[in-house]
Amino acid sequence: MQNIHKIKQDICDIGRRIYDRQFAAANDGNITVRVGENEVLCTPTMHCKGFLKPDDIALVDMTGKQISGRKKRSSEALLHLEIYRQRPDIRSVVHCHPPHATAFAIAREAIPQCVLPEVEVFLGDVPITKYETPGGQAFADTIIPFVDKSNVIILANHGTVSYGENVERAYWWTEILDSYCRMLMLARQLGHVQYLDEGKTRELLELKDKWGFADPRNTDEYKNCDVCANDIFRDSWQASGVQRRAFPRPASSGGSPAAGSQPAGNQPAGSQPAGNQPAGNQPAGNAAAAGDGQIDEEQLVKLITGEVMRQLGVS
Ligand SMILES: [Zn+2]
Repeated sequence: MQNIHKIKQDICDIGRRIYDRQFAAANDGNITVRVGENEVLCTPTMHCKGFLKPDDIALVDMTGKQISGRKKRSSEALLHLEIYRQRPDIRSVVHCHPPHATAFAIAREAIPQCVLPEVEVFLGDVPITKYETPGGQAFADTIIPFVDKSNVIILANHGTVSYGENVERAYWWTEILDSYCRMLMLARQLGHVQYLDEGKTRELLELKDKWGFADPRNTDEYKNCDVCANDIFRDSWQASGVQRRAFPRPASSGGSPAAGSQPAGNQPAGSQPAGNQPAGNQPAGNAAAAGDGQIDEEQLVKLITGEVMRQLGVS
């Protein structure tokens, strides 16, 4: 038996965290929890997510029609409902406008892979939708090509949506993504991004599999993909205007060859170093796998995976 009041309180708590982290200005963002086959709790429209009370939460059916609640449901409920329709395993959806991830949504910049161990384990390849006017079914439909392969989606020129088995889990993926995007932007300002190589990334994918986190790169369909090259969603980039401009593709340390696998116009020819090359040959801010060994990569991966395992209670 579900405790509906407790779930409403959890929604309010996550609303507070979203607002406190500045993921939703003014009345932005919305949170839902599926509590039955045809019943979804939904935050109200025109209400700051930082100051919700359990009594403010509306109840809607799977068509978006309001069943109960004294406040009108969010105008973006259809996006949430489409995720529940596509993914019966999902119990909660969180949508907001976290600034760093939304900056990637505005720049239509692909989220680079093989940078942070925790991001590989918890997120994997992150898709960016085709832009659509918010609110309607056409907007909700933009998530359909991605929703079964990811737990967080970037909405072009808009924000993010993430989902999970409860409201806190649904929110986690947004927080991890925004924090990652922020670190990427800071590292880029320093002028260099050191990518993990394919071997080390495959180690992370093995851990991910062991811990029961799904990743398309661990399925037969993608087992020969280049694990660091955004292979999972790259086919969608042309339609959604996504390119690698700020973060060029890391030089592959093996795996499938890069030639021909990128849409034309992705980056100027010759900007991709083949492997090791002295620093200074690269244009400022042009990240690449220069590999001059400043970081003990192995130790870093060990440290961080140890921390991940500790947090998951594995060790
Ligand atoms: Zn929005």
